[in-house]
Formats: sequence, C-alpha cells, structure tokens
Amino acid sequence: PQPGTPLLRVEHAVKQFGGLRAVNDVSFELRAGEILGLIGPNGAGKSTLFNLITGVNPATSGQVTFAGRDITRQSAGQIHRLGLSRTFQHVHLLPDLSLLANTMMGGYARGRAGMVASLLHLERAEEAALQHEALRQLRRVGLGEQAHLLAGNLALGQQRTLEVARALVADPTLLLLDEPAAGLRYGEKMELVALLRRLRDEGVTILIVEHDMDLVMSLVDRLVVMNYGERLAEGTPAEIRANAAVREAYLGV
Ligand code: ADP
Ligand code: MG
Repeated sequence: PQPGTPLLRVEHAVKQFGGLRAVNDVSFELRAGEILGLIGPNGAGKSTLFNLITGVNPATSGQVTFAGRDITRQSAGQIHRLGLSRTFQHVHLLPDLSLLANTMMGGYARGRAGMVASLLHLERAEEAALQHEALRQLRRVGLGEQAHLLAGNLALGQQRTLEVARALVADPTLLLLDEPAAGLRYGEKMELVALLRRLRDEGVTILIVEHDMDLVMSLVDRLVVMNYGERLAEGTPAEIRANAAVREAYLGV
C-alpha cells in the first residue's frame, strides 16, 4: 500500500464479556507507513482490541477493515494470510526449540499445539521454503547468527526480538506489538526502538501497545489513548502530553 493511505480502520468496535464492555465503541484509523501507539491503564481494553482486530476473539459489534477488506468476521488464520501479524503481551516461545524453529511457527496463526502439529505435517518443499523465510527474518532482526541456539537460552530482550522475527514471517504489511518492551533493560529497549524504526523504514506499518511513555512518545507518529474500554483521546505525542483528560486519567498529573 502507498504510504499515507488507510491500511487499518476500526469503526465502533465493541467487545462484550458478560456484563463487561472491555472495548466500548472504539474507532480509529492507521495509515500505511505510520507507527501508531495505543496506550491506557491496565484493563483499558488494549489487548482485547488487538484480539478483535486479529480475529483471535472477534468483535461483538462494529467493523474492522484491513487493506480495503472487511475482516471483522474472518478467522485469525485468514487475517494473518492477508498480511497482518502480531505478538502477544506475554512471551509465547518454545524454550526447548531453536530460534529457527520458533520463527518458523510464525507461518501458522494457530494455538501452540496446532503449530507444532502443523510443523510435523509439512511437506518437505514447504518446510524448506518456510525455513528459508524464517532465517531471512532472523537475519532481518539481527538474530541470524543465533538461529540454531535454543530460544530458552536467550536474554529477555532477545526473546522479544525473536517474537518480532516470528511475527515477520510471510512479510506482513501491518505488525501489532503488545507491550514488546515489557521487562526489558534500558539498552534492550533502545535496540528494540531502533529495530522498529528500521522495520518502518522498510515499509512495515506498526501498531504498538506500550507502557513506557518515554519509549512510546519517542517512537510513534500518533497515539490513541484508551480508558475503561473507550477511546479517550487521539493525537500526536505533543497533543497527548498536553491533553488534560489524558493527564488526569492516565499520566496521573
Ligand atoms: P489491557 O490490555 O488494556 O490491560 P485487557 O484488554 O486485557 O486490558 O482487558 C480489558 C478488560 O477485559 C479487563 O477488565 C479484563 O479483565 C477483561 N477481559 C479481557 N479478556 C477477557 C476474557 N477473555 N473474558 C472476560 N473478561 C476479559
Ligand atoms: Mg494488555
């Protein structure tokens, strides 16, 4: 997609869990080439919003459009094949498998058991192609040299980077990152920021949930702020810093 054209559009998204509206009438747009930050207190509905965008747990009502297609009712696998990938809030790696094998699992948008089963049933040619793609993405994020090490031996920062590599398998146009810097040390965070900037320069559009305000403000073009399931504000980092409602609800100042 041409930079600046709408890539993802969320319109009046609602997600209801019993009596709780975890996402309540949220709308926003993401343009190709942008890095958009999604912030808000714990429980604001950020991960739930990711789940409804990616088909993991579809919206109760509202509409999600990706690259001009209505994906509201598509499965996670279908959405992934259209070029939308994500990482999860908690590290989802198989520690006893190599970085390469973990990255290859990005070729499947299913549960863990499903992914392992899928790997076992791959045709040889498919496996070779997937392995080639996984290695390419490991090199892209700077982990090519470690491809045959076990994922469990990596420092947390590198595990997070490995998850990005896994999400990059099949070259998504849109990458959703759910708190990728959680638990990282300062130096690791700076490396992550550099990686995300480079991916953006290579044409990947990014939607990132992040609690570290300095990190997110220095990285993103625009921010959407959520609070109690609702979109509280939207704007540039400077606009969000100056927004009285955001300061009260979230920044606590
Ligand atoms: P955030 O990612 O912003 O911290 P979440 O999206 O994880 O927030 O959660 C939003 C709200 O929805 C919370 O109150 C949470 O307890 C609730 N919630 C999330 N997932 C489920 C679920 N599968 N079933 C019931 N409630 C859920
Ligand atoms: Mg969350």
